[in-house]
Amino acid sequence: MDRDRQAKTRAAWLETLARYKLDPDHAASAEIWSPRLEACSRDELIAIQNAKLAALVPFLYENSDFYRHRFDRLGLIPSDLRTVADLPRWPVVDKAEMAEDALLHPPYGTYTAMSEDLWAERGWMMFSSSGTTGAPRVFRYSHLDRDYWCWANARALVSMDFRHGDTVFMMTGYGPHVWAWGVQYALAKIGLPTIPGGGMDARARANIIVRFQPTILLCTPSYALHLGRVLQDLGHDPRQTKVRQLFLAGEPAMGIDRTRERIQDLWGARIVEFYGCTEAAPHVGGYSCAASQPKDGPVFAHLMEDIGIWEVVDPETGARLPPRRRGLTVCTSLNSESSPQLRFLVGDYTEFDDRPCACGRTHVRAIGCFTGRADDLINLRGIKMFPGAIEEAVRSLPDVGDEYEIVLSANDAGMDTMMLRIEHPNHGTPDEIRDRLRAEARSRLEVQVDVEVLAPGSLPKTEFKAKRVKDLRVKA
Ligand SMILES: [Zn+2]
Repeated sequence: MDRDRQAKTRAAWLETLARYKLDPDHAASAEIWSPRLEACSRDELIAIQNAKLAALVPFLYENSDFYRHRFDRLGLIPSDLRTVADLPRWPVVDKAEMAEDALLHPPYGTYTAMSEDLWAERGWMMFSSSGTTGAPRVFRYSHLDRDYWCWANARALVSMDFRHGDTVFMMTGYGPHVWAWGVQYALAKIGLPTIPGGGMDARARANIIVRFQPTILLCTPSYALHLGRVLQDLGHDPRQTKVRQLFLAGEPAMGIDRTRERIQDLWGARIVEFYGCTEAAPHVGGYSCAASQPKDGPVFAHLMEDIGIWEVVDPETGARLPPRRRGLTVCTSLNSESSPQLRFLVGDYTEFDDRPCACGRTHVRAIGCFTGRADDLINLRGIKMFPGAIEEAVRSLPDVGDEYEIVLSANDAGMDTMMLRIEHPNHGTPDEIRDRLRAEARSRLEVQVDVEVLAPGSLPKTEFKAKRVKDLRVKA
């Protein structure tokens, strides 16, 4: 490839990224970091997306073998994809396609624009996809990416009401996961103090919360429940701590009503969340705002549209859906030199609303937030359901424990069955509880389930991400 041309294309992409990095260093207002980007008209927003896309596509073509071969295979050239309106010509890219590329081109695959030269010059970190299925795919990012992430994440943190006076307790293992690292650097950019909480057990963390009084906790939803109970066991009331916000990720929480209410009630604190993925929105994709939990309607999250083009597509045909139609999320990343992606199928069910928000932002909102990835769907005798829907049924029972398990197996007749294993104080007389949960499952999910009622404390405690589903069925 012509090296001069390649250098020019790269320069044009980086120049475009820089041109639209408005309010790069400080928030322009206390509520909205960059009103020029976050509260602009929809037309202005689409103009930014088009300008970025036109610079990105040739860059990706010249710097990723995966993308170049895909263009060639589809009989397309970069100038075929100049605007958001052109994007449907490009079929969505899914994880399986990336995994196959990684298998053929170990260890990194060719789906990113990171080269050995760039890694040597300004490599920052290597992350790994944290999906619950499939082989891990890795993504290497540069220090320039770090800079862009910091800015995008800082904007989202301001939207979520992170402010001076807060101390953030980071209860993460600091593994190769994009979320916590991206937040750590963004907090430094805003100038907020943190307490790193890796490598400690729940008692040690509970003691830190009581003694040093952080105001915001960062962890998974199941861990927030577990830690609240540990505090209670130590004789403390989580509601009496200084914690005012729970910044949760890794599992759906905001979008599962019973879980959100249970956690918020336990802590007397508000849940806020990010949404994204390692592959296409390693920085913030979706984020909460002051209006995210309306009194008279479903919860929602914004999607940051000047740094990514978000679409909802039909799960069967992959066709783009208009606003207020339910489908799967797709992201084109416009905020990275190392790993921009074109129409990556993130794969969460939601629906978009592009009307302005009460908070003043114009970026699209995912109504109901996100309740699970399509590849986590449970298929029981042809009925498809999310673990989150089962969680709603379990948590509708009064006094039910925080932990539960979904066990899928086949009976002697070869028929798939689902067993819910729950904890309840009335485990000595389980019939009433069993009947109630069976009725809940029948009315919410239209499935027959078996129920096992265990004594509180029987199931393993979740220390990071919960493993709720045990599928013992023999795969064909
Ligand atoms: Zn809003």
